[in-house]
Amino acid sequence: MNQPANPEQPAFRAAGRIANLSVSEILRIGARAGALKKAGHPVIVLGAGEPDFDTPENVVDAAIRAMKAGDTKYTALDGTPELKAAICAKLKRDNGLDYGPAEITVGAGAKQVIYNALMATLDPGDEVIIPTPYWTTYSAMVEIADGVPVLIPCDQASGFRLRAEQLEKAITPKTRWLMLNSPSNPSGAAYAEEDYRPLIEVLMRAPQVWLMSDEIYEHIVYDGFRFVTPAALEPALRSRCLIVNGVSKAYAMTGWRIGYGAGPAVLVRAMAVVQSQSTSNPASISQAAAVEALNGPQDYLAARTESFRQRRDFVVKALNAIEGIDCRVPEGAFYTFANCAGLIGAITPDGQRLEDDRAFCSWLLETAYVATVPGAAFGLSPYFRISYATSMEELREALARIARACGTLARPGRG
Ligand code: PMP
Repeated sequence: MNQPANPEQPAFRAAGRIANLSVSEILRIGARAGALKKAGHPVIVLGAGEPDFDTPENVVDAAIRAMKAGDTKYTALDGTPELKAAICAKLKRDNGLDYGPAEITVGAGAKQVIYNALMATLDPGDEVIIPTPYWTTYSAMVEIADGVPVLIPCDQASGFRLRAEQLEKAITPKTRWLMLNSPSNPSGAAYAEEDYRPLIEVLMRAPQVWLMSDEIYEHIVYDGFRFVTPAALEPALRSRCLIVNGVSKAYAMTGWRIGYGAGPAVLVRAMAVVQSQSTSNPASISQAAAVEALNGPQDYLAARTESFRQRRDFVVKALNAIEGIDCRVPEGAFYTFANCAGLIGAITPDGQRLEDDRAFCSWLLETAYVATVPGAAFGLSPYFRISYATSMEELREALARIARACGTLARPGRG
């Protein structure tokens, strides 16, 4: 972050809290993919964390109506009454939970909601338990808020899910939050009721620990998987649980920037202080659009999920057909997180040794022109993430290229 001396640029010193952070690795890979594309290479990017569908037309229409009606001014700080009511109705309809408007907060994406919660609750040295692999932003935000991320590896053998013994061991008097994300970015793993129960038991014995449940991929689950929110499983946990959700993924509204949180009013009020002194209300027009997304027809969600399922099945099968790669079938989201241990140490045709998953992904991008993201970016190696939120045609071509490239590798012990 700190810059070398430059006569035209006065000395710059980044604050300690961000000195060790950088823009996300996913963005960096995207930039490299863009540069290769610009140079004329046929790059396929499997790195994006957003649906390739369009925002539904009824939602776009609602935004246009809002603009024309002059809905273009500051709104209530953390969400319009209409949007809060729509969120309360959604929590009742989908999750069987009763929340009132004072327990709802709306921000510029789920990202801002998580940020507000951490900024509002962490003092220096406070610990936040994050199972890995995790969405990279979690640990970075904890650090920005002067907290200490406590990372717990949850590998493929444990279904990428945190186990009660691991949680129990990680909790200290300084633990403020456990952050869970189901279905998960990047692993696609989801927690069923029976996965949550033992974790909840541990949490009930540790009253200082709050639970942040990131449910942004709630609607993208497959094969009849029953999504549950832990807040619905144990009434006593509700008073220290923050549900995080949003319209980005379910309604293909990533650019609109609307996310929300549901939690105890005391927490919601503290989060409002952070938002009040930073960004104020999320965009008025986007809020009007989100009301329509949540209150309007929901039938297309199932059709979109079915389309994601077909792509998941294709990608998992194609990956597992490659020697050296082992991919678990994810329950949800639109990512595969495949183990590439069998390719670490392999030698490329030009004599390069693939030392780790970063080297593997970078080699794939430079030689097969397929952009994926190494597990290291999510705190767990050796894996790599593919986002299959792209067309079948692109996926077919990308997976064929990955298979071809891997076929040229000389693997250790295999000659
Ligand atoms: N949580 C997870 C796990 C995510 O993958 C993302 C988006 N990549 C978000 C939260 C944030 O979504 P948004 O800010 O667009 O609502």
